[in-house]
Amino acid sequence: MLQKAGLIASFVAYAFRFLGDPCRVVVIELYSHFHFTWVLPRFCVVGQEHKAFIPYGPFLKGVPEGWVRWIRDRVAKKSREQIPYALLVIATGAGAAEGLPSRVAADTKAEGVALLQDMQRSIKEAQHLVVVGGGAAGVELAADAKHKYPEKHATLVHSREAVMHRFGPELQAAALQGLNDLGVATILQEGTATNSIAEGQITLQSGRRIKCDLLVNCTGQNPSSSFVAGLAPEAISPTVTIRVKPTLQVQDEKLPNVYVCGDVAAVGIDNPNARSAMRQGMVVCYNVVRAATGCSPTKTYKPFWGEGVIKLTLGLDKSISHMGDGKTELWWQSREKSLDLMPAEAWKHLSAKPFEDDDKSEKKVE
Ligand SMILES: Cc1cc2nc3c(=O)[nH]c(=O)nc-3n(C[C@H](O)[C@H](O)[C@H](O)COP(=O)(O)OP(=O)(O)OC[C@H]3O[C@@H](n4cnc5c(N)ncnc54)[C@H](O)[C@@H]3O)c2cc1C
Repeated sequence: MLQKAGLIASFVAYAFRFLGDPCRVVVIELYSHFHFTWVLPRFCVVGQEHKAFIPYGPFLKGVPEGWVRWIRDRVAKKSREQIPYALLVIATGAGAAEGLPSRVAADTKAEGVALLQDMQRSIKEAQHLVVVGGGAAGVELAADAKHKYPEKHATLVHSREAVMHRFGPELQAAALQGLNDLGVATILQEGTATNSIAEGQITLQSGRRIKCDLLVNCTGQNPSSSFVAGLAPEAISPTVTIRVKPTLQVQDEKLPNVYVCGDVAAVGIDNPNARSAMRQGMVVCYNVVRAATGCSPTKTYKPFWGEGVIKLTLGLDKSISHMGDGKTELWWQSREKSLDLMPAEAWKHLSAKPFEDDDKSEKKVE
């Protein structure tokens, strides 16, 4: 059984190739569409939001009837239906309580599109935008908004000494410079005292007050591991990721048939990213197929610094690509011509034709 659909294509293809007999795969996924997170901050400002929602359907074309059961629902500690499994893969990623710009809390594509359009409207109407959180989502959103609407005031408030604090000092400095060049005011080592706007202002923890008619919170993504607390409480780390063995089996001797991968797995990565999630997915595929054929899992995952390469946009036509191993950094600037940040490649990756979607999703998940 798999939670999270993104890994399913590679898993199913792999499993079907090596397991002669049909295996039954159950996928449980909350949302109707794959949410392409990379483009969300951009589509909070620029209107091509439908491209962020990729249909899952084409992924499974050609899979024989009955081999995959696809359930649109939420795995929970208590639920109406219990699904037995021989092997379980947990790939529930991370969530953001505030939703946009990091995640879209929308069961259906129509809802997700509406949420992004609401955000675009709010940013268009605001005169004093305050963005809280100077990680990639906050930096990108503040920069895009100020680039598109240079007459507005945009302020980025960040609690650390530098924006992009999880990355190397050179990227931190380049990101700050990019924000300065656009005219985004950056306030460091500060946070908001409350999340509400009062009399056209917000109050910072220091007591300082700044004008604000739109507050966008870009802090606090959390690994989605709460439903595992009952299954393997000892495996939950202080940062609520799930501890794993090098084989990506959950770190609990009683549960050798449970595997974890992606943002929810505690694999020692400072900046969880899609490349490492995909590689972990492949390790899990390999090990699960071995386990299903009566062999012990042998593939292991070790983080590789090259997986952490990032392309940070700094306004609508500029980006910085960066990679580093904690000691040395390599980065370069580029002019960007594509306003939509090239999501077509992601659609193709999921076997979907950009941007064709016969969306029939309905609200279902409670
Ligand atoms: C704004 C933003 C920009 C990013 N940009 C980049 C980038 O440029 N490059 C890069 O490499 N990485 C980037 N990332 C990181 C990348 O998105 C993640 O590392 C990657 O998506 C992790 O994949 P995952 O499969 O672990 O989790 P996710 O992609 O989060 O997938 C988890 C899935 O599990 C489902 N789910 C969760 N809980 C449940 C439940 N209880 N029951 C059923 N289903 C559930 C969710 O609906 C979701 O579909 C970005 C992230 C964000 C937020």
